[in-house]
Amino acid sequence: MSGKPVAKDPSCRDEFDPRSLAPDLALEKILAAVRPVAETETIPVREALNRILAADIASGINVPSGTNSAMDGYAVNGDDIPASGSAELRVMGTAWAGRPLDAALEQGTCARIMTGAVLPRGADTVIIQEDVERDGDVIRIDNATRRGDNVRRAGEDIRQGDVILSRGRRLIPADIGLLASLGIGEVEVIRRLRVAFFSTGDELRSIGETLDEGCVYDSNRYTLYAMLARLNAEIIDMGVVRDQPELIEEAFVSAADSADVVITSGGVSVGEADYVRETLARVGDVSFWKVAMKPGRPLSFGRVKNAAFFGLPGNPVSVMVTFYLFVQPALRAMMGEMQTRPVTVTATCTSKLKKRPGRVEYQRGILEHDADGGMVVRKTGAQGSGILSSMSQANCFIILGMDNAGVAPGGTVEVMPFFGIV
Ligand code: AMP
Ligand code: MG
Repeated sequence: MSGKPVAKDPSCRDEFDPRSLAPDLALEKILAAVRPVAETETIPVREALNRILAADIASGINVPSGTNSAMDGYAVNGDDIPASGSAELRVMGTAWAGRPLDAALEQGTCARIMTGAVLPRGADTVIIQEDVERDGDVIRIDNATRRGDNVRRAGEDIRQGDVILSRGRRLIPADIGLLASLGIGEVEVIRRLRVAFFSTGDELRSIGETLDEGCVYDSNRYTLYAMLARLNAEIIDMGVVRDQPELIEEAFVSAADSADVVITSGGVSVGEADYVRETLARVGDVSFWKVAMKPGRPLSFGRVKNAAFFGLPGNPVSVMVTFYLFVQPALRAMMGEMQTRPVTVTATCTSKLKKRPGRVEYQRGILEHDADGGMVVRKTGAQGSGILSSMSQANCFIILGMDNAGVAPGGTVEVMPFFGIV
């Protein structure tokens, strides 16, 4: 027995590790290091969902192309609307949607008009049919309608020459319809980002294999696949690589040859079989290793040949948290997407949350309305970084800042909802 204390290295139990980086700073460094893909391709609009526009799109036409009726009724000239009392107008024809009336209104006349039909020359107003009395080909109107009512002006939605979608936009279903409404059949988009990934670990088994004692099914490759599919990346799944430096090196090199980005999970902590870090140092560059966050502290970022490299931790929840916080914004930047920061909201926390100062924590929460319509959030249960079901139940991260030392029930917390990011 000796009274000498055991000399300990910094670990994830520590309150503060001076060698670790704040998450904001880590993201900043990552974004500063990645470059967008330059190549573009032209594709049919229907295939462009979830692709990134390579150039601004300007409208070649006015929308609507002509001034037309917003209602079924009668097209009149505002001069014929009486200041008070009523007036009679003769119906001189009918304007249908797609079949305009080829005659101009004369004073004291009007035209029957259907929704979407172009206004005849001389008309500037539509009186809805419910507001007129009709007797044969004469209508009686009052002064309830103002000049210009119930009319959609040419170009009121979009003017010819207006930029309607900007370069860097990720196209959503509304955009696909909008492009079609302008008669645009093809768009120039940035080529898809090629992302290769593999898992590391001797204990990993693939679906279909027997689960020997102490083994786990490889779920990270599936989670990564799903998160990358949402981003519309071109996915290269390289399978499981055993914990042997030569095999890991071989996988790194072949991944970097075929992809813009290489992602690995596992093998980045400080265990004896954690070879990802040393292998990366041999075949590429390592930018940093530790982030002051939980989960996800051992995270590496760097470069292998021309590919950006992310070494994610092995724990399934850590993979998702680090992906959403660091990998996703970086991939979107590489895809050429103009992005905004994810929205956060504040909510009243109904659970007691344990937390040590000195790192940012991303706990898994369920955000909902309480009976009064206020926003409340509770944690999903045990917060271990291996408990993937907590991520599956969650609809938000509860973000507890660096100095936070725990939250009592009723406390206010910052929440990042998953909509839009998951
Ligand atoms: P590591 O970072 O390699 O030390 O792994 C940390 C923990 O995550 C260990 O319990 C691993 O078994 C687990 N793990 C690593 N990779 C995976 C994977 N692909 N799927 C599921 N669990 C994993
Ligand atoms: Mg491992």
